[in-house]
Parts: sequence; C-alpha cells; structure tokens
Amino acid sequence: MAFLSPRPTVLSAVLALAALVALAPARPVAAVAPTGVLDSRPLVSNGDPAHRITLVLLGDGYTAAELPAYRAEATSAWRALTAIEPFRTYQRFFDVQRVDLASPASGLRSGSPLGMHFGCEGVDRMLCADDGAVARYAGPAAGSRCLLALGNTTRYGGEGGGGLATLAAGSPEAARILQHEMGHAIGGLGDEYDAAPPDAGPPNLAAQDADGMRRERVKWWRWLGAPDPSGGPVGAYRSGNGLYRPTRDSVMRTLGGVYNLPSREALIEALYRQVRPIDRSTPDTDAVAVGAPLQVFPIPLVGARQLAVVWTVDGRPAPARAVSGDRLDTSRLGLGPGDLAQVEATVEDTTPWLRDEDFRRVRMTERVDWTVGDRAADRTAHQLP
Ligand SMILES: [Zn+2]
Repeated sequence: MAFLSPRPTVLSAVLALAALVALAPARPVAAVAPTGVLDSRPLVSNGDPAHRITLVLLGDGYTAAELPAYRAEATSAWRALTAIEPFRTYQRFFDVQRVDLASPASGLRSGSPLGMHFGCEGVDRMLCADDGAVARYAGPAAGSRCLLALGNTTRYGGEGGGGLATLAAGSPEAARILQHEMGHAIGGLGDEYDAAPPDAGPPNLAAQDADGMRRERVKWWRWLGAPDPSGGPVGAYRSGNGLYRPTRDSVMRTLGGVYNLPSREALIEALYRQVRPIDRSTPDTDAVAVGAPLQVFPIPLVGARQLAVVWTVDGRPAPARAVSGDRLDTSRLGLGPGDLAQVEATVEDTTPWLRDEDFRRVRMTERVDWTVGDRAADRTAHQLP
C-alpha cells in the first residue's frame, strides 16, 4: 500500500510554478499543454474551482487506444472515493478534472509520461510517480489541488501523501486501495498497521496511551470512549510498531474498512483548510436598499444535513417572518425611511464528526454582512464613478 511521504520541497516548487503560470497571460491551450495530453476536461463540476479542491486525475501507461479503459477507471476512482465517509458527505468540496494522457507503450514501463513504477524506497507494492511530471501534466489550478495518478496495471499497489496519490487502477482492489491512499494524500493520515514505520506525527497515530493523551490534551483525546463506526469504542490500541491507533481496525489498517472518528475529523479539517464554508453571497455589495433579497450560498453537503445559516439584525436574531433558510427578505425587517440595519448571515458546519471546537469556530464558520437601508444604498450609488 503505502507510507506517508510528504513532499514539501516538490510541492512548494509546484505551487510556486502554479502561481507563475496563473499570473502569465492566457495563451491557447495547445501552446502550453505538454506533449501527450489529448484532452483535459471536467469530470465533476461542483462550483467555482477557486472555492473548491480540484482533484486532478491522470493516467500513465495507457496508449491512445487504451484511453477508454482509463476513462472508465477514472470514473470508478471518483465513485470509490465518494462511497466512503467523510468524502461521501463532503464530495461537493471537490471539482474533478480528468487529464487524458497517451503513453507511447502500454503498461508501466520506462518512458511513460508520469514515470510510474513499483518498488520505490525498496517496497515492492509501493507505486511511485515522478512528482514533477504529474504536476506539470496536471497544470495550474484556480484553488487547491490534489493529484491522483492512475497506473495502467493490474498489479497491487499505490502510494499517498502530500496532496498526491497513486493507484494501480486495474487492480481488483483499486477502489479499496484508493480509499486508503486518499487518507494519506488529503488528510495526512498515517498507516495503522503493525509493520508501518513508527512515525507518531500523523493525527491518527500517537506515542501516548489513552491516559497520556487525556493528560496532555493531544491527538484524539476528545474522542476516547466514543462509539466508532468501525465497531467498538475509540481508544488507544497498541500496534506492533509500538505506536497507538484510535480503533482496533480501520481503512488505514485494513483495506475495505472505514475511517475511524479521529481520522474522519482530520479529513474534514483538511477540507476546511482549503475550502471556506460560504461559496458566495448576493448581492455582493456591502450596502443594499430595503426590499433587496439577501442570500448566502453555503457549500452544499450530500445527505440530509446542510451547513446551518443563522441571520441576525443589529446583533439580534432576525425576525422569523423575514427569514427563509439561506435567504432574507429585507422588506420584512420593518425598516422605515432613514433607518439603517446591519444584517449578518453566519454559516456554520455543525457536524458531530468534529469535536475540535476551536477549529470549527475559526475555519468551519464564516460570516457575511450587509448594511440595509435606503440611505445605505444611496451612499453606494454615490460612490460609483
Ligand atoms: Zn498506507
């Protein structure tokens, strides 16, 4: 499977390159697309890429004739990711871009564009790619980006870390490998199996036992004792490498499992470090006239629960007659001529899958406000050139 392998240097270089490319004047795609890219198209569009994480899928070892198989495997990869929580609920935090790349020969052999190969770092099943090549072929993104390289092989393997995962896309285990590797790539999660290198850095691994975590208020201390979807309570289970893990089993220990609660929380936090709760709001001016409707558009969740929207007027709860979910009707605030009111919408993710309330307040809550009143609107109008 894989070991966490952060790539700070390469990633920084890639980000710097992406920033440079973003600043460069627009040129025809054909002039900048690296050789071998036959197509690059959105597979899933959930909204403005600047407000999403763009998951870029790329294939290696597929000849032009094999691209139909690659496209099917790319679609399957996204389906596998969104079959597991928290990605199922939070899938609209992503846009998915599929890059169709033709290799000169079939399979993972020397000379393939992404340089994918098994056996890196001396581990047979570890499937690596040339990080620089993957980033180059993926191209720049408007917002955050995560890269997934699909290798044309049926042999078992993958790797994940630092915003990049690899996958043996033809393996019968591909879907389950992907669910594991994306835990590394997106959440910075560590391997919970006994033979994993003893690195206690990842959020789901600890050098401390339960008492130590509680005492130092570190790692998943808030979750200790909670009933976990993997079965059994969250605790501190000692692995063969001497580290503690949160649950007896999980997808970071055994393929086909689920993310335990501490890992799920770490993944949600990773998403909110890259995506803000409010996608957009209307009108996008500070001052609005009485009668104008106000609306916020939180990033949608999949399922019954959505981000909560709370409206206030001058710091007090907005009158119920003016509020309809994500919208507020300013004509129902009872404002007379000359009145001014400060209307604020607070969007918050109230998920019980998070217990780090400081994080919720800082990253999972966002506010937008307007000054409502005819005088306010006049003032805006007078500012126009
Ligand atoms: Zn792993």
